[in-house]
Parts: sequence; structure tokens; C-alpha cells
Amino acid sequence: MDGLSNISTIKEILSKHGFTFSKALGQNFLINPSVCPRIAEMGNARPGFGIIEIGTGIGVLTNELAKRADKVAAIEIDERLMPVLAETLSEYDNVKIINDDVMKVDLHKLIEQEFQGLEVAVCANLPYYITSPIIMMLLEQRLPIRSVTVMVQREAGTRLCAEMGTRDMGAVTVAVNYFSKPQLLFNVSRGSFMPAPNVDSCVVRFDLREETPAGVLDEGFFFRTVHAAFSQRRKTLANSVASGMSAEKALVNRAIEQAGLPASIRPEQLDMQQFIAFSNELLKIIK
Ligand code: SAM
Repeated sequence: MDGLSNISTIKEILSKHGFTFSKALGQNFLINPSVCPRIAEMGNARPGFGIIEIGTGIGVLTNELAKRADKVAAIEIDERLMPVLAETLSEYDNVKIINDDVMKVDLHKLIEQEFQGLEVAVCANLPYYITSPIIMMLLEQRLPIRSVTVMVQREAGTRLCAEMGTRDMGAVTVAVNYFSKPQLLFNVSRGSFMPAPNVDSCVVRFDLREETPAGVLDEGFFFRTVHAAFSQRRKTLANSVASGMSAEKALVNRAIEQAGLPASIRPEQLDMQQFIAFSNELLKIIK
């Protein structure tokens, strides 16, 4: 069904089904008609691709994906939206709706079952209460996917797409750069949603790396080090890691020195290779 981003169409559909928005589920639906076609086009929705969508709402983005890609598997947690989607997506035979929590769906199995012979990408206007867990779950599982294109809060997008070694970066910046090449695509104002959230948004794309950076001795330890490094803003790497990992500061200082870094360095000053070198040295010293 076209015109799904038109406010009067949305209101008519929602009132017909007696639907009321759930704040807890992050239900802010898109009402700006130019946004979904752009997400679909920049998110690899095209022939030869199967698309996983997370959080359909009434199906405004699902429509644009189904028009362009070979197949769409759309996961929506809210059972109340099932009859709405049956109506708004009735003209497509290439859409499969999965009524479940995306964090509980076996995505490897879904891809194997639904997307045989297709390349795969993820596109979504994410529920904001669970943005980082969803992105990390998609990246960490090493799914056979080409890209993840998602709408997130502007502030989250800035952090996710920050250059390594700059002030805006955080633990999540290191993690997304480890698995992918992140890119900020475009900004979306709060007025593009109903109900309007109290923050602006942006669309970001993660192009997954075929190989993650080489040389990491222990991936689990590497990510523990990164999380500890950013656990206390504005502290030195030595102080944050010593307290975040309950390690002796003298040992952390030795690892910093052996990685060839200055003692006073702050976590946001490290690039990927320096984080890897530091975590490897720390592993050798304290494990
Ligand atoms: N795609 C629609 C749009 O752009 O208008 C809706 C986007 S809305 C920001 C987020 C959607 O994600 C809601 O429909 C909500 O019910 C759904 N959702 C929330 N938590 C979810 C979860 N854990 N798994 C799957 N869907 C979820």
C-alpha cells in the first residue's frame, strides 16, 4: 500500500485497528515520505538481495524494501501490528513477517531458510531503547550480511561513526570499526516521526568487513579492555583500565609502555592498531 507515510492514512489505519502507540517499544513511526525510499536505496534493497527489517511499525519501510529487493524478512515484536501489516502489505508476496523479539530470533537460520542464493542486508528504523544491543548483536554474530543500514538517534550516530582517535569516540566506536566500515548517510529531523521524539535522528550504514583486524590474541579480552578503557570518561587509559578491570595500575602502565604509548594517553586518542597492541600486552602481563 502506497502513502503509508501520509499522516491521515496512518491515523485512519491505526484508528480502524484500535492501535495506540507503545512508548516502551520505541514506537515512533515515520511520516516523512522521502526517508524510506532513501534508506531502501542506500541500504542495498535491490534485485539479488534479501533484506532483514527490524521493527516494521505499520510497514512504511517494508513497502519500499519489498518493491526493490527479491525478498524481505521483517521482524516485529508487537502482535497488535499483525492485522495492520496483513492489510498494508497485502499486495506483496515476497514479504515474510516474523512476530518476535529480534534479540531472540536465530538470524543464521532465518538467512539460510529465507535467502538461499541471495546476498543479504539489514535495513531498519530501530527502536531507540535497544539500538546498541541490536547493532552489536548483528555485527558480533558474523552473519553473512553485506551491510546494516539503520536509523538511530543523532547522538548515537555521532558516536557510532566517530573517527578512531577523536573526541567523539567510545567503546561502541571501536567495536563497530572492528567489524565494519561505518558511515553517516543523512540526518532526519524529529518532525519526521509520529509521535515526534524529543531528539533528532540520522541514518547510518555499516559495511561489514570480510576480515576483522589481524593480530588480536584474544577477542573476548580485547573487548573487555576496550569497555574498561571507556568506563570512566575523561580519565587516562591507565586509570580507567586499572579500575575497570580491577588490575594493578603499575601492570597497566607497563602494558601501555610495552605497546609504545605515552603513560598519560587517553582512550579516545588510540587508533585500532594501538588498542590491539595495548590489549595484547596487557593480556600477556595480567592473565
Ligand atoms: N519501521 C517503522 C517506521 O519506520 O515507521 C517503525 C519504526 S519504530 C521506531 C520501531 C519498531 O520496532 C516498532 O514497530 C516496535 O514495535 C518495534 N520493536 C521494538 N522492539 C522490538 C524488538 N525487540 N524486536 C522487534 N521489533 C521491535
